[in-house]
Amino acid sequence: MKPCIYDYTLEQLQEWMKENGEPVFRGGQLFDWLYVKRVKSFEDMSNLPKSLREKLDEHYSILTLNEITRFESKDGTVKFLFGLHDSHAIETVIMRHNYGNSICVTTQVGCRIGCTFCASTLGGLKRNLTAGEIVAQVVTAQQMLDATGERVSSIVIMGSGEPFENYDATMTFLRLMIHEKGLNIGQRHITVSTSGIVPSMYKFADENTQINLALSIHAPNDALRSKLMPVNRRFPFEDVMAACRHYIAKTGRRITFEYALIGGVNDRPEHAQELAEVLQGMLCHVNLIPVNHVPERNYVRTPREDIFEFQRVLERGKISVTIRREQGHDIAAACGQLRAKHMESTAR
Ligand code: SAH
Repeated sequence: MKPCIYDYTLEQLQEWMKENGEPVFRGGQLFDWLYVKRVKSFEDMSNLPKSLREKLDEHYSILTLNEITRFESKDGTVKFLFGLHDSHAIETVIMRHNYGNSICVTTQVGCRIGCTFCASTLGGLKRNLTAGEIVAQVVTAQQMLDATGERVSSIVIMGSGEPFENYDATMTFLRLMIHEKGLNIGQRHITVSTSGIVPSMYKFADENTQINLALSIHAPNDALRSKLMPVNRRFPFEDVMAACRHYIAKTGRRITFEYALIGGVNDRPEHAQELAEVLQGMLCHVNLIPVNHVPERNYVRTPREDIFEFQRVLERGKISVTIRREQGHDIAAACGQLRAKHMESTAR
């Protein structure tokens, strides 16, 4: 298989040009075709010499994701199920907001983190995605939006997989997305979400970017977090919180804590009170997510009134908090639901 051209940074493409006896500016032209004009073949890159186009085609592929299905919600949310070259399938979601279009990307086929409420982890980890496979999700979504003159304005790494267990590919992807000569997505409009892979959190704090970090906290203490997220036994609550504090101190940026409310499990006012105490004085924001139903998991949702009460307790503790707006309910848009369905139907 030919390597994917989306795996490479602009500097690497320029280097390749040099090594192949081409002027360095050809790297910039190639980059422009890929990320600004977004063509689907080297053949279409009309300002590159024909011999160069042929050489590129010989050495590289422009990864095109094979669209298995697409679901469009009444609210504008679009969910893609993409097939990869090795027959694995991944999910990508476009969310339409009044302030722009946000895309939710996947970083791994499956996941090994094992959160008890999550559909993505049900079949375990199959493999990491390459940087190019993550890039291709955004480029493909952007190509769809091109038809209506819309653009991808923000990215959340909140699809399937743990980005911090696929760190290098994730960072290459991020560097490509924020490149000013490419898609030029604002760093502050990108969020990476992690289940708390502590060493990667320290590394990320040193990357010197303005990209947002979100931590899936989901519980206010070590014991309950270990029950919901087995990864908490590998990286205990205290260590994760220390890594968060380090990130804030190092970057001066606030952290978002994601908290999925699960009926009767982590959604009592006592939990909110404990969380408020743990987060006291931290530069942070809490995002409450009413848990999405996963048929294989028998969790129930928190009643609306209790969600508001949870929010009020946090607010009284001076913690900034919002409730996640939900989209795409009618199309199983959440967290691995579609892929799980697809695997089920292909297994039948
Ligand atoms: N692995 C990373 C990123 C992917 S998940 C992480 O754990 O952060 C994006 C968010 O969706 C995480 O906060 C995850 O815990 C949450 N999530 C997973 N399943 C969910 C469900 N059934 N309901 C609500 N949130 C869920």
